[in-house]
Amino acid sequence: MTTATATFANATCRSCGQVFTYEPILVGHVDLAKSIHKTCHGCTTKAAIYEKLRRDQARADKIEAEIQASIPPDLFATDIRHPGFNSALWEAVSLWSPTPSEFWLGIVGAADKSKTRCMAMLAMRSMRDGIRSTWTTANRLKDASDDRKSRERGLAANAREHIQECLTSPWLFIDDLGKNEWSPAFEALFFQILDHRKNHRLPIVYSSNAHPDEFSQLISGFNRWPIIGRLLDRTTLFDLRPQ
Ligand SMILES: [Zn+2]
Repeated sequence: MTTATATFANATCRSCGQVFTYEPILVGHVDLAKSIHKTCHGCTTKAAIYEKLRRDQARADKIEAEIQASIPPDLFATDIRHPGFNSALWEAVSLWSPTPSEFWLGIVGAADKSKTRCMAMLAMRSMRDGIRSTWTTANRLKDASDDRKSRERGLAANAREHIQECLTSPWLFIDDLGKNEWSPAFEALFFQILDHRKNHRLPIVYSSNAHPDEFSQLISGFNRWPIIGRLLDRTTLFDLRPQ
């Protein structure tokens, strides 16, 4: 068997019909390069560019579908020029990023401060940047803490899947902390999530109408300070309450 490279061979581009030259790869009398060079250089480059655009678009579509599946619809189209929107808070939130010393962000204050909107905008931005992010609410976690032991298998499976995402997702957003009932099952689950994510340095962004200290009246004795301590430890707190 001999392998030799001849000078150049001619072929007709399947796409534009032009004759182009390529370097044949001859094994005996067989040109192995013939089946590789089906289109001319120009058409090959163009096809590669279209393929990259198609893949980028497919990736963007997938991310938008994930956003639509996880972020509440009324939060998609936040108009940052709306007079009611707290643009100062968004400026601060958009500038925040996790550091080794502060990798959680808590946004605390009254209901009309655009806390959830700013959080949703940060979540959407991180998703579009390619960071897998999970959105939940304290009430949804409360439901999951009940449902994970449900006899309804579908319900239990959904709850466990959501809990798993909350544990391991690179970023976790928890809206409306404090709106939940502090049941023993919720407290245990909530502590598990906080503790796991703190130990693995996984960012959490949470919003709450109350400062975590105020939960000391509501959380049971055993879980009280472990939960409150973790909510405040290595956490940047944007406290919007009247000082
Ligand atoms: Zn061509």
